[in-house]
Amino acid sequence: MAVYNPKSLKAEEFINHEEILATLEYAEAHKNDKELIKTILEKARPKKGEMGYECRGLTHREASVLLACDDPEVIEEIYKIAEEIKLAFYGNRIVIFAPLYLSNYCVNGCVYCPYHVKNKTIPRKKLTQEEVKNEVIALQDMGHKRLAIEAGEDPVNNPIEYILDCIKTIYSIKHKNGEIRRVNVNIAATTVENYRKLKDAGIGTYILFQETYHKESYEQLHPTGPKHDYNYHTEAMDRAMEGGIDDVGLGVLFGLELYKYEFAGLLMHAEHLEAVHGVGPHTISVPRLKRADDIDPDQFDNGIDDETFAKITACIRLAVPYTGMIISTRETEEVRSKLLRLGISQVSGGSRTSVGGYAGYSNDERPHDTEQFDVSDQRSLDEVVHWLIKNGHIPSFCTACYREGRTGDRFMSLCKSGQILNCCHPNALMTLSEYLEDYASEDTKKSGYEMIKEELEKIPNPKVKGIAEDNIDAIRNANGRDFRF
Ligand code: SAM
Repeated sequence: MAVYNPKSLKAEEFINHEEILATLEYAEAHKNDKELIKTILEKARPKKGEMGYECRGLTHREASVLLACDDPEVIEEIYKIAEEIKLAFYGNRIVIFAPLYLSNYCVNGCVYCPYHVKNKTIPRKKLTQEEVKNEVIALQDMGHKRLAIEAGEDPVNNPIEYILDCIKTIYSIKHKNGEIRRVNVNIAATTVENYRKLKDAGIGTYILFQETYHKESYEQLHPTGPKHDYNYHTEAMDRAMEGGIDDVGLGVLFGLELYKYEFAGLLMHAEHLEAVHGVGPHTISVPRLKRADDIDPDQFDNGIDDETFAKITACIRLAVPYTGMIISTRETEEVRSKLLRLGISQVSGGSRTSVGGYAGYSNDERPHDTEQFDVSDQRSLDEVVHWLIKNGHIPSFCTACYREGRTGDRFMSLCKSGQILNCCHPNALMTLSEYLEDYASEDTKKSGYEMIKEELEKIPNPKVKGIAEDNIDAIRNANGRDFRF
């Protein structure tokens, strides 16, 4: 039997089934232990230190106790602390991105995904470089600066060379004032050598969802294809880091397995990365299973309601305070509104989950034929930006950190140093100003500049504030773009 060891490089030792079961038992036994819960909440609360706020985070066991607790007062307190952490480290900024589906060819048999190899009803499509270019122009014309590229796993149709070509094409296109400044990559687990190639191609975060941490379920849910290999998939982030990728993004597909099990596994994965590589995950995504071609989510028993989903999100926020959290358009406007307050720091907007879904379509026309899943939030990017502003969140198109070499532990140091208000905050305002000038509707522009005016006042360092003001003037007078701290 494998023994739990967060420093091990073996999947079954750092995501240890027995440790997860023991954690769930511990959480169940202590979920009404008021003293213990009080201590855990105190530990999670941000404290004012010399440099700004500091947070200690929680272990998977501590966080699991909070997740198991049903006391409404405790849940309210968890939400309150999640909000405090969010404001302490991420402020009211929300980073915006869009997915770009390159190819839905796939050799895997994932039973929840419409791209599974046995699905004969979905048309298969792979973008040519010309089509990638058209998609990127359409995305730039919406105002996007940051993409997450998505592809099925198929060594013949989507080899690493194809992905690298696409990244090169994406970065090369400068349409009007547009450019894509950060490409995050969500492709199947691969080799250290291929991760090194992705790193050399200048990617931002490498994202790979674990889908489920439960090995037995994992093997049933991925009955055929290379993805069937649980250990290879689970150890992918270690190979990515060995290949030089500092920023990796974890995620679980909620709805496949019991959420308490997944939650403990996810946090153990984060602890493992910290223990081995000295830096935790850059982001955690919280996708929920959706209806899709040939897929009925009701065939899976473990769907979670919106309340539980909110609690999971808040508990992740408490456990890993310095990790960004991502929510996609799988969720409705209503759910997204609630989760933004509880710790989410990145959202997608104006998304299409079909291959070739952007170019040539207006926001009201959505191609469904090659779509991966139903999009619940179907608003245009401008509507999403306007909504964020109206709700007091600064939509940020910032991509500065990795372009300034602030990746991995250097990003974490920035987060911990309290310099975010002198760095990320002005960057958010400057990139928002670019969006307002180049892409926004009149209404969005008006409320956006009102927000910028107010938010500039929050920059503590007068020199930084002065530079940010000058840069925004330059953007407004068409005298420059892409300013950053
Ligand atoms: N093929 C890559 C891999 O194997 O990791 C990743 C790309 S796939 C396009 C991105 C993610 O979509 C998957 O990791 C999975 O979690 C999610 N997904 C698949 N089917 C889904 C569904 N029916 N509803 C919601 N998300 C789904």
